[in-house]
Amino acid sequence: MSKEKSAIIVGAGLVGSLWAVYLSKAGYKVTIYERRSDIRKAEISAGKSINLALSVRGWTALDAVGVGDKVRDLAIPMTGRIMHSEEGDLSYQPYGQEGQAIYSISRGGVNARMMDIAEQDGNATIHYNHHCNDVDLEAGKVQLINKETNETVHDQADVVFACDGAFSAVRYKGMQKLDRFDFSQDFIDDGYREILLPANEDGSYKMDKNALHIWPRGRFMLIALANEDGSFTCTLFMPYDGGENSFNSLDSKEKVDNFFKETFPDFYEMMPEIADAWEDHPLSSLAIMRSYPWHHGKTAMMGDAAHATVPFYGQGMNGAFEDCTVMWRLMQKHNEDWEKVFAEYSIERKPDGDALQDLSLYNYHVMRDYVADPMFLLRKKIEAKFSKLYPEKWLPLYSQVTFSNIRYSEAIANGKAQSRIMDEIMKNPNITAEWDSQEIMNQIAEKI
Ligand SMILES: Cc1cc2nc3c(=O)[nH]c(=O)nc-3n(C[C@H](O)[C@H](O)[C@H](O)COP(=O)(O)OP(=O)(O)OC[C@H]3O[C@@H](n4cnc5c(N)ncnc54)[C@H](O)[C@@H]3O)c2cc1C
Repeated sequence: MSKEKSAIIVGAGLVGSLWAVYLSKAGYKVTIYERRSDIRKAEISAGKSINLALSVRGWTALDAVGVGDKVRDLAIPMTGRIMHSEEGDLSYQPYGQEGQAIYSISRGGVNARMMDIAEQDGNATIHYNHHCNDVDLEAGKVQLINKETNETVHDQADVVFACDGAFSAVRYKGMQKLDRFDFSQDFIDDGYREILLPANEDGSYKMDKNALHIWPRGRFMLIALANEDGSFTCTLFMPYDGGENSFNSLDSKEKVDNFFKETFPDFYEMMPEIADAWEDHPLSSLAIMRSYPWHHGKTAMMGDAAHATVPFYGQGMNGAFEDCTVMWRLMQKHNEDWEKVFAEYSIERKPDGDALQDLSLYNYHVMRDYVADPMFLLRKKIEAKFSKLYPEKWLPLYSQVTFSNIRYSEAIANGKAQSRIMDEIMKNPNITAEWDSQEIMNQIAEKI
């Protein structure tokens, strides 16, 4: 009788729980170690509902193992952005063509469903309250502390997957001790704080739920995504330091109250009690973490453990789920010869991880500075018009990233080429008046 194939996954977050479904499907006995307690049993108190934008890459990875249909009922489509000006005026920008949307989905909800699927349909066991604190990458061994009993636990498997997030213990205790392992960690100047905008008394939404709301204010911004229960999770992104519009300067309820009243008046009208809710969620930092290679011996890193990024393209989870798509394809290609699978995974996926991070930083500037800039908006309108006329010639960068499975590294290269063309087109002195003329469309076509 052949020996049962075994895998250990460290971290039952978004990637760990999805990858467990994949491995179970391939016949692995999967053991997952998660440092938190079971989120399905934990009381989810008001204000803890954090949502994410799920798009095509995420759905592709979920659908490939039948998880997509089991989480679709949790997803709220968002067809575009609604911008809120300081005067309270609203303007709408569709994200893509008609029928295209990104989806607001509850992190806890989708995570819990995937854990159910891994346990019920697959051959997975999840051990909660187990904190990984050491690893032997070559032997496929992990060491953990059971936080309930304080006991040290050891385990070993054919393969180990580090899905333990941005501050990965496997990376820190294992990979970062290796010779010639590259690692960098760059915190951006901004932090973020989440705010829960409650539903109306009758449970209805206070704003259009089918859009991602943005209050762009130059150096900082507020965004909001709908939750299933009528509330919105709002996130304020702002520098820690530097003048009155910084987290460190908002050090009293009075200042918070004034800040929202003056800067986001329509939001303040919906939530005049904002100053009381300010401390409900901690102020958190944001960093880009790059590493290479993403494997060693019997161990590979997936998701944020390998390539944590800032959330401004809404692609961290989507890109992390795409790691599963790639790993799965390579598993088939190399008939589960893990040495070959991991070697190719590191080489193939690294440029896409880097591109995902570059794109996320780029969109940080777009959302912060450009979405309110009329020339930027005009440029996007021209691109959209051209793309609608000649879809085979031009897929806007946002659509490549969000509504396709084109590799991130290809999308960023295509986007740079498009940007050079648009720089030229925007130099046309009559561009504001003639932007949608056939003449402008022809000029773009000639430059491709
Ligand atoms: C504010 C914000 C907004 C975001 N919005 C979006 C969005 O709209 N769309 C999108 O695609 N992405 C978004 N992201 C990114 C997304 O959250 C991450 O990319 C995604 O969670 C990565 O999944 P992961 O499984 O790799 O890591 P995580 O989801 O962080 O999971 C890691 C798991 O490992 C566990 N763990 C950690 N250390 C140990 C240990 N030592 N032992 C055992 N277990 C351990 C943790 O408890 C956790 O359960 C956002 C991120 C932030 C911060």
